Amino acid sequence: MEDRIVLSGKSFLDGSPLKLRIGGGLISRVEKIAEPLPDDQFLGPGLMDIQVNGYGGWDYNAVYDEVLSLGQISRKLLQVGVTSHFPTIITNSPEQISRLIRQIVTLCREDKVARDCIAGIHIEGPFISPEDGPRGAHPREFVQAPDWDLFERWMVESQGLVRMVTLSPEWDNSPSFIEKCVEKGILVSIGHTKASPAQVIAAVAAGARLSTHLGNGMHGQIARHPNYLWSQLAEDRLAASIIADGFHLPPEVIRVFKRAKGEQLLLVSDSTSLAGMPAGDYELHIGGQITLSPEGKLHLRSNPQMLAGSAMNLLQGIEFLLEKELATLSEAWKMASTRPHRLFDPMFDPIKVGAKADLILIQKGPNQSLKVLKTIKNGKEVFSS
Ligand SMILES: [Zn+2]
Repeated sequence: MEDRIVLSGKSFLDGSPLKLRIGGGLISRVEKIAEPLPDDQFLGPGLMDIQVNGYGGWDYNAVYDEVLSLGQISRKLLQVGVTSHFPTIITNSPEQISRLIRQIVTLCREDKVARDCIAGIHIEGPFISPEDGPRGAHPREFVQAPDWDLFERWMVESQGLVRMVTLSPEWDNSPSFIEKCVEKGILVSIGHTKASPAQVIAAVAAGARLSTHLGNGMHGQIARHPNYLWSQLAEDRLAASIIADGFHLPPEVIRVFKRAKGEQLLLVSDSTSLAGMPAGDYELHIGGQITLSPEGKLHLRSNPQMLAGSAMNLLQGIEFLLEKELATLSEAWKMASTRPHRLFDPMFDPIKVGAKADLILIQKGPNQSLKVLKTIKNGKEVFSS
């Protein structure tokens, strides 16, 4: 027996009334309907977060005796509408990165929910800038030049799960490393860099296609021009991810990035395990001693200017864009769903007959607040509020 679900709501694209029938894990019918629908309920694709360090108290960058406890991240993210995510492993020793990868492989093998929700692994580092500022909260001792043999080992250990890497093109061998990644179908993103404009262009020529959390992982002060921010902003072949949590980027910067990048701007959460946790002082793998302020700002305890990942989820990122009038609901939703999907699958189209049924029904409340009413993953209802 297969589950049959019928969902209706206003389309995330244009607000037109939409009814979807779901069977066998797929959308089996798409109907425009005439009957009146609640004015505040919107239907669209589940969110995809390509940068998740951790969530709800669990951390992909920590080793657990009970590996399956990491499955809580997938379950908690489903409750906030994130139906696909990329566990993100940051700079560490080669052995520890191997261990963290194998942990995710085990998780995916033994936990169907995690297997369904984890769309790939994002390796952020260790091939980034060693310099204070661009390096952000990544531990300097493990930063190194790109090493293909090492990366290939991680790819093999991940059994195909590694699909994305963030690196700095400031290393001499970056272009050849990027070419090898592209050959293997790995998405290369530029981040945590002090690369020269020429190095940025060489990286793009070699196949880099994205900037990771553009505007963060930078020096506090840079030369007015040229610099690595202008060169990435001006490069039309680079999409860009941003962290829209209200702390990483001021609204006017997001507005300008949006003008520069157009439909190539997308959202990531960069959430750490402290996303969804109470304010206070914590000890974390990323950067060690971390403070989560009552406002939700996550920074190094020793330096409140130095952000250490975010404490939000993608849905809150959409809320922030709406609240600051930086995007419409439709646009912000695309930034957190179809656009990240299309980095890996250019033909991705979430609302059509035969599409995998990863869907959410959202209620838009006063003050631009959003609430997930239902989450459908692989055609099954996995969350309902
Ligand atoms: Zn980062």
